[in-house]
Amino acid sequence: MSSDCLFCSIVRGEIPARRVYEDDRTVAFADINPQAPTHVLIVPRRHIAGLKEATTEDAELIGYCQLVAAKIARERNLEDGYRTVYNVGPGAGQSVFHLHLHLLGGRDLRWPPG
Ligand code: 5GP
Ligand code: ZN
Repeated sequence: MSSDCLFCSIVRGEIPARRVYEDDRTVAFADINPQAPTHVLIVPRRHIAGLKEATTEDAELIGYCQLVAAKIARERNLEDGYRTVYNVGPGAGQSVFHLHLHLLGGRDLRWPPG
């Protein structure tokens, strides 16, 4: 837990968010600036700054976030095509330094991404 971390505050319920799923390890909520009809952030409750700061101790949790994304996508009938993304570092657009997996779906997704 980090007292000055936005996503830790959302996990603790101190800052409101439209939660779509939660369990003992993760919280998933709608992105405040959605880039697709479904744009959900899957966040581990435990503070990890990002993928490049993660260690092998975080491996199970990181994989679990992917499975939470797949579950939400299945429930929303997005299985024709969706994307899960970690933006890693400012050069890739990471702006919140608490690990979060983007789930994007509900529209055509081009490749490569911008
Ligand atoms: P990043 O750019 O770090 O990969 O993703 C951070 C995401 O968090 C962005 O898509 C941004 O719109 C979202 N975001 C930033 N602040 C808030 C907030 O206070 N609430 C919610 N729900 N999303 C936020
Ligand atoms: Zn945090």
